[in-house]
Amino acid sequence: MKLKAKLTFGVGFLFSMILFLAVLSGWKISRLKQDTNNILVANYNTLQYSRNMLLALEQLHADLSGLELFAQNLKLQQQNMTENGEKEATARVSLHFSALQRQPSNLVLIADLRKDISQLMYLNMEAIEHKSKIADDTAEKAILAISVAGTICFMIAFVLLINLPATIANPIAQLTESIQQIANGNYRRRLRFERNDEFGLVAQSFNTMAQKLEEYSESKLGKILAHKKRIEALIANMHDAVIGVDEEGKVLFANEQACLITGVKLNDFEGRKLQDIALSNDLVNCLTGKLSHEHREKTNADPIKVFVNGRESYFEEEIIPINIIPTGESDFQYIGQFILLKNITTFKELDVAKTNFIGTVSHELKTPIASIRMGVQLLENKQIGALNDEQKELLVSIADDTDRLLRITGELLNTAQVESGAIQMKLIPVDVAPIVEYAVLANKSMAEQRGIHVDVHVAEDLPLVMADSEKAAWVLTNLLSNAIRYSNERTSVSILVSKHESGVFISVQDAGQGIAPQYLAKIFERYFRVPGTNKEGTGLGLSISKEFIESMGGNISVESEYGAGSTFSFFLPVA
Ligand code: ADP
Repeated sequence: MKLKAKLTFGVGFLFSMILFLAVLSGWKISRLKQDTNNILVANYNTLQYSRNMLLALEQLHADLSGLELFAQNLKLQQQNMTENGEKEATARVSLHFSALQRQPSNLVLIADLRKDISQLMYLNMEAIEHKSKIADDTAEKAILAISVAGTICFMIAFVLLINLPATIANPIAQLTESIQQIANGNYRRRLRFERNDEFGLVAQSFNTMAQKLEEYSESKLGKILAHKKRIEALIANMHDAVIGVDEEGKVLFANEQACLITGVKLNDFEGRKLQDIALSNDLVNCLTGKLSHEHREKTNADPIKVFVNGRESYFEEEIIPINIIPTGESDFQYIGQFILLKNITTFKELDVAKTNFIGTVSHELKTPIASIRMGVQLLENKQIGALNDEQKELLVSIADDTDRLLRITGELLNTAQVESGAIQMKLIPVDVAPIVEYAVLANKSMAEQRGIHVDVHVAEDLPLVMADSEKAAWVLTNLLSNAIRYSNERTSVSILVSKHESGVFISVQDAGQGIAPQYLAKIFERYFRVPGTNKEGTGLGLSISKEFIESMGGNISVESEYGAGSTFSFFLPVA
């Protein structure tokens, strides 16, 4: 049966019950009313007429008007004879009244009439008693019938009350639960409503939908699995080592290269916490040190040197955090990270070859260039022979170019030494003042050419510093030469030397073009030159200065306001 039909039937049945009860009660009450009416019409009226006739008899003592009243009531009584024996009694009253009309003062007749009327009243009172009993019976039967019908109605209504909501609510609850299961990805869920109503149809449609979703998800799953295999194959065949960890640091996967480099077997990797593996593996320990929560961003550090298959290999580590937005949410959620060890051995080898090449070439060039410089100086000597003006100009230009070549080869040699780690530092306690004097002297002619005044402020009672004086002088000369080169003509440059409890600060301040903020972080990188710099140079001076100062246990920094000037400072520790 359809749900709608069931509901219509249930509610309709209740409605009919109510109607039936109402009709039954109405009918019973009307029967009761009829019974009481019977008493009223048939007997109460007779009693009323009889009473009036008795009153009329009383009046006869005064005048004869009582006769008329008697006659009226007698007539009414003759039309209202309802009980057994009433007709005879009325006939007797009528007979005696006829006689009384002829002899109105006959007391015997009056007494007879009283007796007859009493008889009439008695008959009717008996009838009232009888009919009242009948009315009682009717009332009792009505109460019984209404109670029985009411109880049956109540029981049926109760059964409907219990069953009807359940027939609707139970399938809806099952349906809701099943929809939730489907939403959670359980596409095997089916509804089993063995019924032919609307819910049966809903269950059929639901099952069809679930089956299609299941088929779809299975076909999707196949595709996802194939896709996953492809990515796994890609990761496995990568030349770089890849380790994937979840948000708790447990290893999800590691490729062959990762196992090879770390020397950890795949079985010992998967499912274990990286920290636990790190306890027995130095390389993994070095990697996990960078995996703390603060290090979720890309990490750039020195290359890691590892011996793989008996060969020195270099790896650059990159940590890639994996953040996703879960479906239905708006914030990123951290779910793990990739550790990528990029194999940079080839680049490193090329870099070493390049450094060696630069080192060899600059070393080999230095001697011939120095002898050219010496030759130029000899030619300038008048004792060797007089030169004409054009020859003198040529010699000046050759001397300038040789100086520049000497500076460049010197810087290249220094770089090669720095890159190959072959810097020879002779750290001894040295006085800073002569270093400053040397740098000022070395840049004197350039400063004069550009009309730049060099201010020197050296604090008194400076302590000796632990440094290689030649290299410290090289650094200061380089900083001062930069300050002079990158300053506008006819300005001034200051050298400030100040005392600090643990060493000495030397700074070179200029009022030149300054350095734009975005380049400040790169200024100490090798071969870096601020874009648009039109002065000649190699971009090596500052990087060599940094290496030199740090090798002496000091540090170097820059402050600059674009368009207003720069201050380069370095610190040397006290001896
Ligand atoms: P080079 O001067 O040979 O180019 P450096 O390493 O000494 O190489 O300097 C790198 C770059 O830094 C320069 O090319 C220049 O653009 C910038 N620079 C260095 N010193 C200053 C300075 N005092 N004022 C402005 N720019 C400077």
